[in-house]
Amino acid sequence: MLKIRDILNLKPENQELTVYGWVRTKRESKTFSFVEINDGSTIKNLQIVIEDKIENYKDIIIKINTGASIEITGNLVASQGKNQSVELHAKSCNVIGEANPDEFPLQKKGHTFEFLREISHLRARTNTFAAVARVRNSLSFAIHSFFQENGFVYVHTPIITASDCEGAGEMFQVTTLDLDKIPKENGQIDYTKDFFGKKSLLTVSGQLEGETYACALGNIYTFGPTFRAEHSNTTRHLAEFWMVEPEMAFCDINQNMDMAESFLKYIFKWVLEKCSDDLDFFNARIDNTIIDNLNNIVKDKFERITYTEAVEILLKAKVDFEYPVKWGVNLQAEHEKYLTEMVFKKPTIVINYPKDIKAFYMKLNDDNKTVRAMDILVPRLGEIIGGSQREEDYNKLYNRIVELKLNPKDYEKYLDLRKFGTVPHSGFGLGFERLIQFVTGMQNIRDVIAYPRSFKYIVN
Ligand code: ATP
Ligand code: MN
Repeated sequence: MLKIRDILNLKPENQELTVYGWVRTKRESKTFSFVEINDGSTIKNLQIVIEDKIENYKDIIIKINTGASIEITGNLVASQGKNQSVELHAKSCNVIGEANPDEFPLQKKGHTFEFLREISHLRARTNTFAAVARVRNSLSFAIHSFFQENGFVYVHTPIITASDCEGAGEMFQVTTLDLDKIPKENGQIDYTKDFFGKKSLLTVSGQLEGETYACALGNIYTFGPTFRAEHSNTTRHLAEFWMVEPEMAFCDINQNMDMAESFLKYIFKWVLEKCSDDLDFFNARIDNTIIDNLNNIVKDKFERITYTEAVEILLKAKVDFEYPVKWGVNLQAEHEKYLTEMVFKKPTIVINYPKDIKAFYMKLNDDNKTVRAMDILVPRLGEIIGGSQREEDYNKLYNRIVELKLNPKDYEKYLDLRKFGTVPHSGFGLGFERLIQFVTGMQNIRDVIAYPRSFKYIVN
């Protein structure tokens, strides 16, 4: 079956073909109608000309309304119109499923994204959401393609985990216990009665398991859903999101940065080439800087600065930040945007963060104050990638765990990797939805995933 994307590339030779799709618009005139149909294969519509000569014209044409599904057989000819090079002259037309214009919600153009979020089951029928879905699909493939070309092994890390050690306090619990009758033992919840016999949670990152496979296979990556019960109601946070996490053995922080930079460039180049129609649409309708931006990013080297340098720059900035800056604080989105939009005007990698604001597993620098963390910040969005070189020294990692009042028993396996054949290793995490936001210019992360979930917000 021919798709509209392919039909639009055909040479019009009056050839007969059949096409299926959903009606976008209809313009009726005395003796014929123009109908635009879309089948999801491209942002572009196919124009159909239906003359009143065809059988049952009157009956058919009243049923051809926005949202209806139709099958049309006709001849492909050059179009006189300036918006398209070909059009289909209908010979026969069959309305497969009607869409009552008094009820179908997508009548007029320009619905707000808020409204469209309420009709999650229909929003993919709009140009914007179909384009997001196609770009999302293409970016997924680009990610696999990059890693596969570079010899990485795709590892499926678990979604349910029994280690409480990752993102303290921000995890969803998984249980089959009856919440009205929670079994207790000495006042404590008796998890031996729970499904796994232990407290279990949804993963916030596949990194720890990823490290175990990197320390056997060399270079690996994970790409799957992760869950964070964060209460942050921002346009950049979801409770369920997808993350890409490569992990590389025999790799230090500099090689990690090089890998992350070439990875981002590869996928931006990919999407510029393979999704040009959809990107043209986003550039015209959502943000007119995205294509230029992506082209520049692909060509230009990323800026690399230390956290300490970033703080110095921010302290000199003549801007009233909502969150004041001093050495030791976490960089907020406003700071990240200032660095990437006002100072460097390009993606910026910040390294060597204070150890107290980063995770326990990051490799300590010789200054004993900073760790080999690297965040990649991009204009418009702030942090898109967070990564680090991992501590490979058993004693240093052990001491850090104790220092942070974590229980070394919970980290025995993780420590074992440092006990047996330890290697310098590094990796990073890319939030997949943030990547899509960056590429499409979409403002709200809820609009780049089919069914968004975030604090007090879940649609079906
Ligand atoms: P942020 O400070 O923006 O909350 P983070 O420091 O918590 O990010 P990491 O733990 O380093 O993020 O996770 C790696 C990447 O995952 C981030 O760079 C970001 O792209 C993405 N990410 C993190 N939290 C979320 C979320 N709640 N929703 C969507 N993407 C997220
Ligand atoms: Mn966070």
